[in-house]
Amino acid sequence: MSSTTMTKNKKKKKTPQSHASNSYLRINTAHPSPDYASAVSYLTSQAHSIGLTTRTLLLTPAAPLLLVTWPGTRPSLPSLLLNSHLDSVPAEPSKWSHPPFSAARSPDGRIYARGAQDDKSIAMQYLEAIRTLKNTIPNPTRTVHISYVPDEEIGGADGWGRFVESEVFDEMRVGFMLDEGQASVGEEFRVFYADRCPWWLIVRAVGVPGHGSRMYRGSALENLMRSVEVVGGFREAQFDLVKAGLAPPSEVVSVNPVYFKAGVESGEGFVMNMQPSEAEAGFDVRLPPTVDPDLLKRRIAEEWAPAHWNLTYTISEKGPIRDFKGRPLMTATNDSNPWWSVFSNAIVAAGGKLAKPEILASTTDARFLRQRGIPTLGFSPMTNTPILLHDHNEFLKDTVYLRGIEIYEHIISALSSSF
Ligand SMILES: [Zn+2]
Repeated sequence: MSSTTMTKNKKKKKTPQSHASNSYLRINTAHPSPDYASAVSYLTSQAHSIGLTTRTLLLTPAAPLLLVTWPGTRPSLPSLLLNSHLDSVPAEPSKWSHPPFSAARSPDGRIYARGAQDDKSIAMQYLEAIRTLKNTIPNPTRTVHISYVPDEEIGGADGWGRFVESEVFDEMRVGFMLDEGQASVGEEFRVFYADRCPWWLIVRAVGVPGHGSRMYRGSALENLMRSVEVVGGFREAQFDLVKAGLAPPSEVVSVNPVYFKAGVESGEGFVMNMQPSEAEAGFDVRLPPTVDPDLLKRRIAEEWAPAHWNLTYTISEKGPIRDFKGRPLMTATNDSNPWWSVFSNAIVAAGGKLAKPEILASTTDARFLRQRGIPTLGFSPMTNTPILLHDHNEFLKDTVYLRGIEIYEHIISALSSSF
């Protein structure tokens, strides 16, 4: 987009756009019973008001997926996909200063709503950016799609999990996807090129049972405590890297104990004069894609839960860590990825600054695309904003929201051209 166009757009009155997003925030799409029908109907009417085409896919009967399309003049080019999930996590209204689905506005412009940051803001910003762009470009070179998907907050199996396997998805020929990111407390926009992969590890110990008064080797709890000590040492070493500023929290392997189970229950507590024959501990482990999963598995087998301590273990891998070709699940953020170059240059052209690309500490739908080898970045344009996703009193300032639309105008304009 030329700079003259941007200047012209900047003079536009922005208030109506802000109001439009508030209507979407007032639709309760929180689990356990998200109102997907109202959300899809609202977004469909917004898309039609801009002249975009829509399709509602019912890959799961109760969870519709809305696909909005702005057709390109060269459909042979791989398409650009902008993604947003329809659902939100629940809110506890009693702990909020305003009702979570009121979209109440404070005098300084904070709009309070569950989903204000995660991720209804981008859902509306995509549409508003295209609404503005359409004034100057009737059709982009490359086809632009927006996907509004259900069930991200509950794992995505019935949302993106089904969509990525569908014929419709194949026909879209997606070259690059922009997905949700996170707020930035500073001036720089944050961008995420990978997610961490969760592993749920359970270590089980068996041992000789005995009287509580006897000291002997090889009780189940002694065996489990040796394991906990070794895992604890690994955890400290990873934590030290973070505390020393040598690695951001999302770039180390986090290991956190989440439960211990042992003892023989009696009526009002546990039998105290007996050493039990079984014990177990559960750990939440998160791996960045930079880590070799086979090496970690060997460490678990040989050091964390060795058989000679009468320990066994199970690892439940909650997501992929490699793509379909066996490569680490991450999107390149250098010149080898033309989408990255165009994206990052567009931010600069919009007058923004990008922070060093990060790995997201948690998991998003982006993994479904990265697994297919499709470059995907997590990005929500929110600077000078506290990180409130899943928190009480989630809000976004109207000025930050409106600035985000301008950022997307630059990004969509650049990424939908040919390069
Ligand atoms: Zn989200």
